[in-house]
Amino acid sequence: MKYYSTNKQAPEATLEEAVVRGLASDKGLFMPFSIKPLPQAFYDSIDTLGFQEIACRVADAFFGEDVPADTLKQIVYDTLSFDVPLVKVTDDIYSLELFHGPTLAFKDVGGRFMARLLGHFIRKEGKKQVNVLVATSGDTGSAVANGFLGVEGIHVYVLYPKGKVSDIQEKQFTTLGRNITALEVDGTFDDCQALVKSAFMDKELNGRLLLTSANSINVARFLPQAFYYFHAYAQLKRAGRADNVVICVPSGNFGNITAGLFGKRMGLPVKRFIASNNRNDIFYQFLRTGVYTPRPSIATIANAMDVGNPSNFARVLDLYGGSHAAIAAEISGATYTDEQIAETMKTVWKQKHYLLDPHGACGFRALSESLRPGETGIFLETAHPAKFKDTVEGIIGETVAIPEKLQAFMRGEKQSLPMSKEFADFREYLLTVSDM
Ligand SMILES: *Cc1c(COP(=O)(O)O)cnc(C)c1O
Repeated sequence: MKYYSTNKQAPEATLEEAVVRGLASDKGLFMPFSIKPLPQAFYDSIDTLGFQEIACRVADAFFGEDVPADTLKQIVYDTLSFDVPLVKVTDDIYSLELFHGPTLAFKDVGGRFMARLLGHFIRKEGKKQVNVLVATSGDTGSAVANGFLGVEGIHVYVLYPKGKVSDIQEKQFTTLGRNITALEVDGTFDDCQALVKSAFMDKELNGRLLLTSANSINVARFLPQAFYYFHAYAQLKRAGRADNVVICVPSGNFGNITAGLFGKRMGLPVKRFIASNNRNDIFYQFLRTGVYTPRPSIATIANAMDVGNPSNFARVLDLYGGSHAAIAAEISGATYTDEQIAETMKTVWKQKHYLLDPHGACGFRALSESLRPGETGIFLETAHPAKFKDTVEGIIGETVAIPEKLQAFMRGEKQSLPMSKEFADFREYLLTVSDM
């Protein structure tokens, strides 16, 4: 499969080039030239297949031309060593629990898949070391670091803002050691992101080092997220509820929902999507007005969605030929304040005894407000509520038990290197470690 850039000014790339580079040379995002539909027979029998079997079919449509079948199957099975159950919350609303992986959030799927695919390309080519740079406000860093832990030929540098991530989040990427280095930046998340961007644009640095990104701009990170949309549908079909499915995705950078839209293009019978936002409602405003106006992000209690300029918007636009009307026909929007998110978490806990995290709460609420008669809703529960322990406990007024997986991270010892927010310092550091 060949990949083009959404900016249409870069030469076409192979899968390997798209994965190793991350971003196209014209700063656009890579898109596959074709999205292969899966045959009707697959959808007819999807309810008889397990998660990994379904994922292998989807992975084959995306990557089958470029990765040997047995390797691809191994990558899928290694990635999906945990389940993604669909849990009924109300008569019409189901929660797709994406938090049963190692770092208890959905980014585990893409992080683990990308690590294994990149590892495959490096082994195949005998490439020199690839350096993954990732800026994080908390969750991406842990998923990427844990996904890449121990993968030979790859070193990961996680840049995070000092004092601005929770203890639990910090422990998930600073205690790993081995091929993972945590850099504690004396600045904000935006400063971290600026350091990573400057590194990718620095000609000399890129001449000396192979640098790539593991944010959802990378096709190897965002495409595998399509797997669980198919698995969700299969589970709903088993429950006899697969007509008029509406999927609601708590969205920040829009990588997750874009993978779902790819699924629909492949024939997955989803009636419509909802992109639910916190107060960072850039997409919601775009749907309303037809004008896309990025803004600086605002801090909210659903902090993984605090994005003022969603990178995957370029992919959504490209997928619908730039047409606002076509986008609005398949995707609607929602936006919630912190007070509304908290109120939703409290009510659902009281009435249904289902504990939502702040992100999932945006998803649940949008469905509960807009589901029409005859529709069945699925929202993506993107993280385990214990990842936001203090916030959640403050809202429901009860203690939240920390799963053993998280407790194990808490027992580890933090190791990180202090880093200033000046690019010159970061650059110097990368050049020094590359000389060793
Ligand atoms: C990253 C993240 C989101 C937003 O996903 P996008 O793909 O960036 O839209 C939502 N919830 C949680 C918990 C996340 O970590």
